[in-house]
Amino acid sequence: MASNLDFSLTLSLLFAAAVLLQWLLRIWLVSRQVRHVARHRATVPEAFSNRISLAAHQKAADYTLAKAKLSLIDITLSAAVLLCWTLLGGLDRLNHGLLELMGPGLGQQLALLASFAVISTLIEMPLSLYQTFRLEQRFGFNQMTLGLWLGDLCKSTLVGAIIGLPLAALILWVMGSTGSLWWLWAWGTWTVFNLLLMWIFPSFIAPLFNKFEPLADESLKSRVTQLMERCGFAAKGLFVMDGSRRSAHANAYFTGFGNSKRVVFFDTLLKQLNPGEVEAVLAHELGHFKHKHITKRMVMMFGVSLLGFALLGWLSQQPWFYSGLGVDILQSKYLGVPAENNALALLLFMLAVPVFSFFITPLMSAMSRRDEFEADAYAMQQADGAQLASALLKLYEDNASTLTPDPWYVSFYYSHPPAVDRLARMPAPSGSL
Ligand SMILES: [Zn+2]
Repeated sequence: MASNLDFSLTLSLLFAAAVLLQWLLRIWLVSRQVRHVARHRATVPEAFSNRISLAAHQKAADYTLAKAKLSLIDITLSAAVLLCWTLLGGLDRLNHGLLELMGPGLGQQLALLASFAVISTLIEMPLSLYQTFRLEQRFGFNQMTLGLWLGDLCKSTLVGAIIGLPLAALILWVMGSTGSLWWLWAWGTWTVFNLLLMWIFPSFIAPLFNKFEPLADESLKSRVTQLMERCGFAAKGLFVMDGSRRSAHANAYFTGFGNSKRVVFFDTLLKQLNPGEVEAVLAHELGHFKHKHITKRMVMMFGVSLLGFALLGWLSQQPWFYSGLGVDILQSKYLGVPAENNALALLLFMLAVPVFSFFITPLMSAMSRRDEFEADAYAMQQADGAQLASALLKLYEDNASTLTPDPWYVSFYYSHPPAVDRLARMPAPSGSL
C-alpha cells in the first residue's frame, strides 16, 4: 500500500509541474501575441482599411503590446507567489504564527483567511498601481486620481470584510459541525449566498462605487424600451453609470436578476455611440438573455462548485493534501483536531485548483465565443446589423483593442471573437469614417 509520504511527494511534484507548465504556456502565448501584433503594426488590415486610421491602428497595437509586456511580470510574479505560499512554506508559517498568537479555534481560522487576503492584496498593489497610473494613463484611459483609487481600496476592503468575514465564519462553522456531509451543506450555503449577493449587488453594493442615474435621453429611452418590449425583456430600469470617473473604456451590461434586473449603460458608451448603435449593442446583450447564456453559466458554476466542495470534502481528510502543498499538519501540536485545519484546507484548495483548471481555459473561451456569435445573430434580427457593425468598430477603436491578435492567443483566452470574425458575419458598417 502506498504510504502517506508517497502521496504527499506525488502531489508536490504534480503541483510543481503544473505551476511550471502553466507558467511556460502563459509566457509562450503572450510572446506569440507580442510578435503577432508587432508584425502587423505597420498597416491597417485590409478589411478595416477604409474605416480605421493608421494612427488608431498603431495606438491599439502599442496599447496591446504594453499590456502584454506588463502581463509577463504579472504571470511570473503570481507563479512565484503561489510557490511561496505553498511548497516554500508561506502558508505553513503564517498558520503557525497565528496559532502561537491565538491558539486554535474559529478566531484563528478567520484570522488566517483575513491575513492571507490582506497580504495577497498588498503583493498585487504595486502592479495594479502601475497599470492604472502609468499604463492606462499613458494611453489616455485612466480618469482616476490617487485619492479615488485609495477611496476605492478602503471601500472594497470594508465591503469585503463586512460580507466576507461572516460568510467565512458560517462556512467554517458548517465544515466543523455538520458531520461527514458538511461539503453538501457548505455548498448550499455558498450557493444561497451567491444568489443573495447577485440580488443585492445592483441596489446596494454597486452604488457605493458609482453613481447610477435613470436614463434621461427621452428619444433613446423610448427606442430602447421598444426594443426590450419586442424582445420580451422586463427590466426594472435603465440606468446610466458614471464609468468616466475611472476609465474612458466603454461598456453596457445587465445586472441583478428577478425583480432587481436592470440595464446599465456606461456614460462613456452613450458619448461614443449614436442611438442606433446603442440600440444594436443592447440588442446584443438581450441576445445573451434570450439564449439563456447567463442562466446556463450560473447553473454550470453551481454544478462545478458542487463538484469542488465534494472534492474538498474528501481532500480535507487526507493528511497528504496538506503536506503535499507545503503545510505540515503532522508536526503541528494541534494535530488530531481536523476541524482546526478547515481554513487551511479552503486556502490550499483555492490556491491549487486554478493551477489545474487553467488548462481548460481554451474550452471555456470557445464556449464564450460561440455565445457571442449567437448574441450577434440575435441582435441582427432585432436591430440594424449595420449599426451593430459600426458600434463594434467604434468600440474597438475607442478601447484600442487590437484588430490583429495572434490566433493561438485568441483561441486560448479570447471570450469574444476577434473583430474581423464578428464583422465578417455582419452587413457593412453604417456611416463613414
Ligand atoms: Zn456579448
